[in-house]
Parts: sequence; C-alpha cells; structure tokens
Amino acid sequence: MDKQGKLAESDLATIKQSLATRLKSACWNCGEQDWLIFPTALGEAFYDAEGQYLSSAYLAPKVRLTCRNCGNIVYFSAESMGLKTEPTDG
Ligand SMILES: [Zn+2]
Repeated sequence: MDKQGKLAESDLATIKQSLATRLKSACWNCGEQDWLIFPTALGEAFYDAEGQYLSSAYLAPKVRLTCRNCGNIVYFSAESMGLKTEPTDG
C-alpha cells in the first residue's frame, strides 16, 4: 500500500489468498462468499492526548470487503490479511 492506502497488485493478490485459505467464512447475512475488495486500505482518525487530529492510512489500516450479493460490509485488519503495514518510500 502507498501513503494514501492504495493497495498494490501484490497486496490484492495477498488479500485474495487470505480469503481463499484463512478467512473463508461466507457472508453472515446471505451465506454467499463473493466479496468485492475496496482497493484502498482505510486508516483511522482520532484526536491524540494533546488534541491534535491524527489521520493516516497507516493508523490501524483495515481492508473493506463488500458482499456482492447483499451489500454487507465487513472489515479486516490489513495486518491480519498479511499486508505489510509499515510506511514505505514510494
Ligand atoms: Zn451477503
């Protein structure tokens, strides 16, 4: 992923591999297993103890999956998906 959280082709391949091998549960709502992967990792945003607003794709990044059948949206931590979650150059 880049600094804005955009997932590289290699990241998308890693996510697909995780969905095929480890995170295999079907959608809890409709029972289908057909997920659309949002192509950007989503970080968190919050105020720190000094009241400074922090936001970054690298703050607890998550991968968003949308069920193509019913629209249920689920999030997994990018780290649990096997993605490298440290900032890299370029
Ligand atoms: Zn569903």
